[in-house]
Amino acid sequence: MTGTQKGRRLAILGAGHAHMDVIRTLRPLTRAGIEATVVDQDDFWYSGLATGMLGGQYEVEQDRISVETLARRVGARFLRDRVTRVDPAARVVHLAGGGSLAYDVASLDLGSCVPLDRVDGLASHAFPAKPIRRLAKLRADLTRRVRHGDGRPAQPPHILIIGGGATACEIALNLRALADRLDAEVTITLATSGDRILSGFPESAARTIGALLDRRAIAVRTASAVDRVEPDAAVLSRGGRIAYDLVVAAHGLVAPPIIGQIGLPTSDDGRLLLDPYLRSIREPTLFAGGDCATLDGEDLPRIGVVAVRQARVLAHNLCATLLGGRLRRYRPQRRWLQILNLGDGTGLACWGAFSHRGRCMLAWKDLLDRRFLRRYR
Ligand SMILES: Cc1cc2nc3c(=O)[nH]c(=O)nc-3n(C[C@H](O)[C@H](O)[C@H](O)COP(=O)(O)OP(=O)(O)OC[C@H]3O[C@@H](n4cnc5c(N)ncnc54)[C@H](O)[C@@H]3O)c2cc1C
Repeated sequence: MTGTQKGRRLAILGAGHAHMDVIRTLRPLTRAGIEATVVDQDDFWYSGLATGMLGGQYEVEQDRISVETLARRVGARFLRDRVTRVDPAARVVHLAGGGSLAYDVASLDLGSCVPLDRVDGLASHAFPAKPIRRLAKLRADLTRRVRHGDGRPAQPPHILIIGGGATACEIALNLRALADRLDAEVTITLATSGDRILSGFPESAARTIGALLDRRAIAVRTASAVDRVEPDAAVLSRGGRIAYDLVVAAHGLVAPPIIGQIGLPTSDDGRLLLDPYLRSIREPTLFAGGDCATLDGEDLPRIGVVAVRQARVLAHNLCATLLGGRLRRYRPQRRWLQILNLGDGTGLACWGAFSHRGRCMLAWKDLLDRRFLRRYR
């Protein structure tokens, strides 16, 4: 340990998929006298189990990890607070609780959110697909609705899911799974502005999921952009209404607005622009990873697989910046494995242009997810 390292301050802002491994491997830094502080308003919620948790395959507690416990284990301080502003010139972070946090090096992993403000009424009425904590609330809400206190079934509720991507389809299928587990009747509609579901996925995957949605009695309305959401119905841009009892917003993810307020270069869609070492292209003391950032000149997908891969590079580069050493380049993978949980005991594995559905795909996903979570428990 040298005098220059001791007492230097590292701020880890947000404990998402890109930071969990950074936090887990902080020990060499704290041992060297670096003051590491982790700030998050919540626990870590794992997206890989999110839809399985919604459908009742996993308990809610299986999907979350205490960041406080993890941080303490490696000698870091944990602040349960919300970051309201990052000032890279002064190297200070402002917190909703009224405090502030000065740093020498900071790393941002604030995730993404569903753009509720793009559709009138959505923010007041919908369950957003993210934060994942809200899916646990949706599960509890539906469970309560379909059960009277005396055990008699209630009127079958109608669930509307806005969106047509992988998240929307997984949510629809796992809500059906939850209803089956509760032995409850529900009607489910998925409304997407696109002319097909799962755009960006291979056509074979879209066909497989389309057929399954049909078999699971989930109505799909394509070319059905929602113009506004009223307390009991969504009004479509082309005319017409879809009545609902519960509405879920799963029409995409955007960077949190706070990223645009930092004053550093961002992409057209509001993500912090990074150099190959995962630092802001203009501010070398500010690192970032996950959905809230992207490489300069690249449109990285907003998926956990990318964030988790970045974590190893982030952990190394934070250590190298604070203790000395060569920085490592992040090289994004060109293909990645994604396994969708279809709620019926099967998974759909997608790899580039290939897709395959089966029980063993879900078993494989379960194995990978459990192995990932075990590292932090
Ligand atoms: C329902 C659903 C299922 C998904 N399933 C998959 C999947 O199976 N595989 C896959 O690869 N991807 C999946 N994704 C995508 C995946 O969730 C994201 O890509 C992933 O979460 C990105 O992780 P992250 O590191 O950017 O941030 P996140 O994991 O989202 O974490 C961000 C953290 O920052 C904290 N935070 C945010 N703002 C503040 C603030 N102002 N102050 C303090 N803390 C703050 C949050 O509390 C959170 O802990 C899914 C997404 C959804 C919505």
